[in-house]
Amino acid sequence: MATNIKKIAVFTSGGDSPGMNAAIRAVVRTCAYMKVECVAIYRGYDGMIDGDFKPMNARSVNNIINKGGTILKSARCEEFRTAEGRQKAHEQLKKEGVDAFVVIGGDGSFTGALTFNKEFDFPVIGIPGTIDNDIFGTTYTLGFDTALNTVVDAIDKIRDTASSHNRLFFVEVMGRDVGHIALNVGVGAGAEEILIPEENLGLERLLDSLKRSKKSGKSSSIVVVAEGDKIGKNVFELKEYVEEHLPIYDVRVSVLGHMQRGGAPSCFDRVLASRMGVRAVEALLEGKTNLMVGIQDNKIILTPIAQAIKGHTKIDKELIRVSDIMTT
Ligand code: ADP
Repeated sequence: MATNIKKIAVFTSGGDSPGMNAAIRAVVRTCAYMKVECVAIYRGYDGMIDGDFKPMNARSVNNIINKGGTILKSARCEEFRTAEGRQKAHEQLKKEGVDAFVVIGGDGSFTGALTFNKEFDFPVIGIPGTIDNDIFGTTYTLGFDTALNTVVDAIDKIRDTASSHNRLFFVEVMGRDVGHIALNVGVGAGAEEILIPEENLGLERLLDSLKRSKKSGKSSSIVVVAEGDKIGKNVFELKEYVEEHLPIYDVRVSVLGHMQRGGAPSCFDRVLASRMGVRAVEALLEGKTNLMVGIQDNKIILTPIAQAIKGHTKIDKELIRVSDIMTT
């Protein structure tokens, strides 16, 4: 279906992730290629309400594909949660002559976009940017692959010092509700145990496993813990618990924190961002709306945003089995 879309806005919103810049670049360049105008919005919905816009052309996005973070800044905006705030945002977009937008963010940003569409019949397409990989409708979100590489790199370094001192390390990684990062880096970095929100290993089994690991002659042990794991103790409490019950271990804790969100995007994330950005603009120009761009079986697909924000991504059971076998 041909549309009357002449100007598309792009912005980043919510938690940032590596690859957002590559996605901005892809949206801007696709607009240039398709000969539609493009405008960037700074600071997410905050900037939309304030009219913080900047016209973009193909050259505005030179040399950003390799940069972490987002050149457009990201923000959390309480005002956009109110009807008055969204009304102001709509007036700003109308004033600027914007006909549609591409939002790069997580499920909160998508919920806002969907509400905005319902109120103003405004075309919106989402690109999933979050390191947690917790959005339904895509096997990979933007930034997940980069975060895995960053965390594996950090754990490799921790292992160097752990094995020099025969230490046990609890390494806490991001993942309040889902264990995708923990499970993947746990396998990738050869962790002895992986604690994720989806499965409660139980304290007894953790102790048994650590005892076995010590007996089998391992010189160091790494336990990867997702922030939201359900074992009932945080990493510092776990350290105390293990030291009390297994005094043979010299235990240390490392909380990786926000470094997991930074860094230059991996090649995988750059390619994914480019593909998603192209599809997002194409979808708008085909008259589509309320859809999220995702990837499945290496094909770029579109999923209704309503499903993407309601659905849950499942942890890969096969990977859990592989992890169990590898820790023998
Ligand atoms: P993420 O997009 O990473 O999940 P948030 O949940 O913080 O991040 O959402 C980003 C922004 O999206 C919020 O600050 C708010 O402006 C907007 N938003 C989130 N939920 C809603 C909602 N239910 N209605 C309107 N806007 C929302």
